[in-house]
Amino acid sequence: EAKESGKNRYHLFDTVQDDAVKEQRENLEAIRSALDNHQFILYYQPKVNMRTGAVTGVEALIRWQHPKRGLLNPIEFLPVIENNPMIREMGEWVIDTALTQISQWQETGLNLSICTSVNIAAVQLQQPDFTERLATLLAAHPDVDPRYLELEVLETSALDDVGHVSAVMNACMARGVNFALDDFGTGYSSLTHLRRLPAGLIKIDQSFVRDMLVDADDLAIVEGVIALAKSFKREVIAEGVETIEHGIALLQLGCELAQGYGIARPMPASDVPAWIREWKPDISWPT
Ligand code: C2E
Ligand code: MG
Ligand code: MG
Ligand code: MG
Repeated sequence: EAKESGKNRYHLFDTVQDDAVKEQRENLEAIRSALDNHQFILYYQPKVNMRTGAVTGVEALIRWQHPKRGLLNPIEFLPVIENNPMIREMGEWVIDTALTQISQWQETGLNLSICTSVNIAAVQLQQPDFTERLATLLAAHPDVDPRYLELEVLETSALDDVGHVSAVMNACMARGVNFALDDFGTGYSSLTHLRRLPAGLIKIDQSFVRDMLVDADDLAIVEGVIALAKSFKREVIAEGVETIEHGIALLQLGCELAQGYGIARPMPASDVPAWIREWKPDISWPT
């Protein structure tokens, strides 16, 4: 009898597994069709200098305009294609779309000195021909100066092969493209990464920023990352700045660059020019 129930359990387990496989296959097919039917769009979130009030850039963040489910955030679909070649296809679409957007903004006379950043998946950066593929995309947009494009790389994605990743970064930087280390401080080897990866910008992960006013450990990490960035001569930006109190504390710690809901939420590309024109730094932030 015990044997029989054991058998049933195995049978049940197989069914559950089959369901998961089927669901993953359906999810992949849905994303395939979304790519083919142009259902992905980029939203843009401003980055500002809290001391000078200058808008320094925007970060492109992908959204899925789903015909039935509405606007979906990346957490709803990126994990599905994490290990699928489609992540590279999507990644190239993102870079190409951002470059098109930069040239459109330039044509409409938007301040040329702002940098647009895009997020790069680990597998994209690990492609042996990433540099050539990026060069091809840049060549398709000859009116865009590559220094207005920045690539955000998750600090943790460099973990596997820092040597290779740093070589790729150097090759891309030789073509004028800048790099940022995203979600900095969440990896296990942040110090090694900072030393070996030539990224010009460090993005303090929002989890540390969110709790820095109530959690002494998080405050210590934020302070530490700012000090590290300064000694390594990198720029530093705080992610997830939601309140004026956060902004004030960060300015006092010497971090001038910020991005977060307290400044602006991610918005459609068409809203960016008006947002930049109307942006006034809050006068209660110390200057
Ligand atoms: P990330 O690159 O660290 O981007 C910041 C995320 O935090 C964005 O979420 C943004 O909307 C959100 N955020 C910004 N300010 C605040 C704030 O003040 N409070 C809170 N709670 N959240 C804030 P989103 O757009 O859902 O993106 C999540 C992650 O998905 C990104 O994290 C990035 O790792 C990834 N991602 C987004 N777009 C792309 C893409 O085009 N390609 C790839 N490979 N990954 C992407
Ligand atoms: Mg990012
Ligand atoms: Mg981040
Ligand atoms: Mg993140």
